[in-house]
Amino acid sequence: MQDDELSFMEDMIAGTELLMCSTCGEETLHAHDEVLDVSPVATELKMQCTCCQTTRTWTDWTPPSRKVRQN
Ligand SMILES: [Zn+2]
Repeated sequence: MQDDELSFMEDMIAGTELLMCSTCGEETLHAHDEVLDVSPVATELKMQCTCCQTTRTWTDWTPPSRKVRQN
């Protein structure tokens, strides 16, 4: 694999999550589709299966630390 291709793949993977797909019946890579809701503790996203294109919602519980203020 070429270096350019490899970094492209890494960029692709960075925007995806390994999630359970009910249509595929297994964990598959899901690409970020759109943000549905943002709260102080989590982000609700619409994710699309890269195998069958089925969309599902997914809650990312990673705190949006860049928005956290230290008091
Ligand atoms: Zn799928």
